[in-house]
Amino acid sequence: MVTSKQYDVVIVGAGPAGMCAALYTGRSMLKTLVLERGIPGGELLNTEKLDDWIGEQSILGWELAKKFEDHARLFGAEFVTANVHRVTRLDDGTFETVTDEEHHYLSPAVIVTAGGTPVKLGIPGELEYAGKGVSYCAICDGAFFKGQTIAVVGGGDAAVEEAEFLTRYGAKVYVIHRRDSFRASPILVERLFANPKIEVIWNTVAEEVLGDAQGLVNGIRIRDVVTDEARVLDATGCFVFIGFRPNTGIIDGHFEHDEMGYVKTDTIMQTSIPGLFAAGDLRSQLTRQVTTAVGDATTAAIAVEKYLKARKEGHVVDPIGAGGYSS
Ligand code: NAP
Repeated sequence: MVTSKQYDVVIVGAGPAGMCAALYTGRSMLKTLVLERGIPGGELLNTEKLDDWIGEQSILGWELAKKFEDHARLFGAEFVTANVHRVTRLDDGTFETVTDEEHHYLSPAVIVTAGGTPVKLGIPGELEYAGKGVSYCAICDGAFFKGQTIAVVGGGDAAVEEAEFLTRYGAKVYVIHRRDSFRASPILVERLFANPKIEVIWNTVAEEVLGDAQGLVNGIRIRDVVTDEARVLDATGCFVFIGFRPNTGIIDGHFEHDEMGYVKTDTIMQTSIPGLFAAGDLRSQLTRQVTTAVGDATTAAIAVEKYLKARKEGHVVDPIGAGGYSS
């Protein structure tokens, strides 16, 4: 059934950025809708523990996610479980946000905080064995590999951090990296090297995920890119952490983005489409942390409030480069 509902602001995605934006727009008494396809939490649900959330020396990802959600709800934000497939700016400047079920939500402003999707290796067996040994989420699937041999592919923060996490389950964790040095932060690399269960396989790529008669992973064919030697690694788990693609496909129409496809915003988090704001992992920026996501979301929410006021008063509201609003 097609429905059409009106809000002051629609927020797409309920990760840290979406929930923080909802807290602030709700607190500003704006009628706020948060659309999220899964459980609220975003990447927090793929993170076992955080030790860099200021004020908490250690907090579980799901616990922080729940706190964020409860806090946003406290200020009146409405949460709906739905997959958004399109956000379009109509001729009058109103946005139409449409879900897979063809529910239409109208609002004069939208904050997109839809995060990103894990990059795939694109090798034979990867998709075939997804969920049967191939995974993109250590916290979701790590416990299935108790006492087993696990391979992690990648050399960034995610790969290094998750490899360490997986040692609590796996008897042995290999990190397969295509170069001879990590991109990951030194503190994470230090922890990795200190862990006796981890072995790094440098200058190596995964070429194929192999499976047994039951359809479960029983090996990974790898190749040393220096010697060109190939061999099969006896691993039953293959965790892939080779980056993230921003979920920008829902934005209908042209918007400015960087060379990696991340959405460009100005200093008030407005995109090149007036009234469309962005925060969190899909935004072009130096780093992607919970702290930066919530900081940018705060800015976006406050900018939305000012944008709506200016719009009501009939002021022209400029896109990127306009310099924002004075307060
Ligand atoms: P990333 O930093 O982009 O690293 C991707 C890694 O995968 C790189 O080592 C890259 O190798 C490798 N790679 C890319 N494509 C590959 C392919 N086709 N085959 C094999 N290897 C491939 O991505 P990320 O680790 O997901 O992190 C994304 C962002 O989240 C970063 O900004 C990161 O700092 C942040 N993050 C932070 C934390 C934390 O601070 N605790 C945790 C997780 C993520 P090369 O190095 O050779 O390019």
